[in-house]
Amino acid sequence: MYQSRIFAPTLKEAPAEAQIPSHVFMMRAGLIRQLAAGVFSQLPLGYRSLKKVQSIIREEMDAIGGQEFHLPALNPIDIWEQTGRVEAMGDVMFHIKNREGLVLAPTHEEIMTYHAKQHIKSYRDMPQIWYQIQTKFRNEPRPKSGVLRGRQFTMKDAYSLDNSKEGLDKSYDLHAQAYRNIYNRCGLKFFVVGASSGAMGGSASQEFMVESPYGEDTCAIDEHSGYAANIEVASSALDPVGRIEDNPEIEAFPTPNSKTIDELIEHFSLNSDRCAKSVVYLADSKPYLILMRGNDQLNEAKLQLHVGAIQCRPAEPDELFTLTGAHAGSIGPIGLASDVTIIADTLLKDANGLVSGANKDGFHFKNIDLMRDCTISSYADLRTVQEGEPCINGNKPLRIVNAIEVGHIFKLGTKYSQALNAVFLDEQGKEQPIIMGSYGIGLERIIACAIEQSHDEHGICWPVSIAPYSVHMIGLGLHKSQEAVDACIAIHDALEQSGIDVLFDDRDVSPGIKFNDADLIGLPLQLIIGEKGLQQGQFEMKIRKSQERQTIAINKEQMIQQTVNAIIQQLQTMSS
Ligand code: ATP
Ligand code: MG
Repeated sequence: MYQSRIFAPTLKEAPAEAQIPSHVFMMRAGLIRQLAAGVFSQLPLGYRSLKKVQSIIREEMDAIGGQEFHLPALNPIDIWEQTGRVEAMGDVMFHIKNREGLVLAPTHEEIMTYHAKQHIKSYRDMPQIWYQIQTKFRNEPRPKSGVLRGRQFTMKDAYSLDNSKEGLDKSYDLHAQAYRNIYNRCGLKFFVVGASSGAMGGSASQEFMVESPYGEDTCAIDEHSGYAANIEVASSALDPVGRIEDNPEIEAFPTPNSKTIDELIEHFSLNSDRCAKSVVYLADSKPYLILMRGNDQLNEAKLQLHVGAIQCRPAEPDELFTLTGAHAGSIGPIGLASDVTIIADTLLKDANGLVSGANKDGFHFKNIDLMRDCTISSYADLRTVQEGEPCINGNKPLRIVNAIEVGHIFKLGTKYSQALNAVFLDEQGKEQPIIMGSYGIGLERIIACAIEQSHDEHGICWPVSIAPYSVHMIGLGLHKSQEAVDACIAIHDALEQSGIDVLFDDRDVSPGIKFNDADLIGLPLQLIIGEKGLQQGQFEMKIRKSQERQTIAINKEQMIQQTVNAIIQQLQTMSS
């Protein structure tokens, strides 16, 4: 392709709203343009990349037996109402004003289940893997970071239909491997975090993550053991506080000026591990007091899972006073004003010698023995792990990192098939709900993550597999040398015939502009061809990422073949 003929508007500066490298370079290199908040047009260079990602995904999905669909983005709302997701999605779902009864689909579990219900009748009709690569619409409250969080984006969504739990396990494992292949082929460094929801049916899910300071997820990872978990479920191998020998009776003492744990520790020279903090939550309206080490943070996701609630929120100040008899800063597990279930973090299991609020403003108890003085209904891991804590696999210090979710695989079980009555007859002729999995990948996120992971101050450094073109051929001094023009055209055509996509910068602009644009667009391999090289019998090849330069020795008769061979060899090396 000749660069003078393509629409690739590069920019010297990115617009102010572009704050992270992938957004900056996707704008500057002319891959995308923003049309509205969270809505982007893919320009020719950007769309070429997106299509390469699509091809990789298609190949890997087809390899596990996936069958490609293309479902409508316009969905009847009543199907969504049957699963309760119109309510669950809330404002994230786009509703259509002038055509009642239709919504824009944010995902397609409902529609795939609807089609399964129509035609899957017997256990013999399964397994099935159905997928599509399609546009999704989500009214994200805060679209940001360019295409990383858009209101319209491309998703590969897949759904597995099975007649047994073992079948689902197999479909899930096939997807897990396909996803690994996809990200590897796209050149991404990623890690997988697991979360077992513990809900009935033992459903499981895994997220595929790319480490990035701009990620909206937080994960705890240990490269040594391969441990990786979303912070919402991560745990560490910290030792419990345990018991001390000296175990006198509890005793109230005045603490009028110690409103916070830190003040309490400082004013009374206490050991922070034995200062127990109490927080009060309402989980589906039921009050809980959660006791943990003074400087630990309650992890709401863990709490929610532990109590099995749909909604959890901290008690409001007036509720707190009614439930406990005191205001924040003086709350504790002993002498509560009303019936509040007490749960404690496992680090406090059976501990004694603790200090905690006395449920009377300005007073604390010391010498609390959880076995002797309170009724702890259960112990659970409820705290958020911190950087440097020992990993549960091998005790190496954990790193807490931000990460971008590029994919998600999920054992749905029968949630949607039951709601939509998608059933089949099993071997005994008994009706059973179809057992399902759902599997999503964000395509624009793959591209943005690849750029986040591979760029420098000059621009993008594309992995070969998803670069808009593999080679950027930079023609120099073309206006004054017909020989150079002829050589460029001949090499361009020969590369294309060998199946190598090449962008030929034939523009009548200065070498400086050509080199800057080539580094900004960031195609993996640059080939520099000019009159001087022709005369000296050599061309220059530059590897964009490493900036390493190599010369290709040529003699005029075999120039084309020699150049093509050198390019093919170099691309192979870079792809392996
Ligand atoms: P997030 O927590 O980031 O909102 P999600 O859990 O809502 O993601 P899924 O519903 O599992 O995401 O969607 C599958 C994949 O689609 C995600 O892993 C992600 O790669 C992509 N994705 C989700 N929301 C967006 C968005 N607003 N913009 C771009 N890609 C998205
Ligand atoms: Mg989301």
